Amino acid sequence: MQINQELCVACGMCISRCPVAAIKKEDTLVHIDLDECVECGVCKRSRVCPKSALEQQELTYPRTIRSLMSDVLTVAVESQISGRGTEEMKTNEVTGRFKDGWVGIAIEMGRPGVATRMYDVEKVAMAVAKENVEFEKQNPVTSMMSNPQTGMFKEELLNERVLSAILEFVIPIEKTDVMLRLIQDVAKEIHTVFSLDIMLVTGFCFSNSTFSFRFLR
Ligand code: SF4
Ligand code: SF4
Repeated sequence: MQINQELCVACGMCISRCPVAAIKKEDTLVHIDLDECVECGVCKRSRVCPKSALEQQELTYPRTIRSLMSDVLTVAVESQISGRGTEEMKTNEVTGRFKDGWVGIAIEMGRPGVATRMYDVEKVAMAVAKENVEFEKQNPVTSMMSNPQTGMFKEELLNERVLSAILEFVIPIEKTDVMLRLIQDVAKEIHTVFSLDIMLVTGFCFSNSTFSFRFLR
């Protein structure tokens, strides 16, 4: 997003609409810090600007992933799903992504107000990949990896900032304890928040537990 300075009257009305504090006022100038902006489109869609000065610039790769992971209206090419591009394992009763004896895990990194850089998503992905997890192919975050076996991401994406990103994978149920310890350890190395969804199919019952770990530095 950018501000057309020829139209902007620096009223500051848009500042509070940004979920990641990327709109800043310095002296008489209001501007968007493009490194911080996650391209969620919220400021423009709020229609708060009296001068229509908020303008969506054309996004090019790799910046396009900011919009994909942050703007609820952006549709992922891989899944044709808007939002963060995945239906998530929480809907396993509909999608049937994993079966009895397997545990579905979703690690939802970032939040409005915090966001996440993709290098932190990679750190977590590489940690859990040590247990030979199978990342969900329908999730566009998986397609951002250069190697889904190791959890390594494409180099050019690592510094991109997004509102949130979800890692999804399945593990055999007997690996659950080991996996939780891995996640607990890597949580100390990242600079954002995440919530952890653990999904288990038990007979006729589908259970979904969500834990929140918040590590901020
Ligand atoms: S597009 Fe989103 S992140 Fe960027 S300035 Fe607007 S509200 Fe903030
Ligand atoms: S609301 Fe519009 S005019 Fe006011 S500071 Fe933001 S961009 Fe400028």
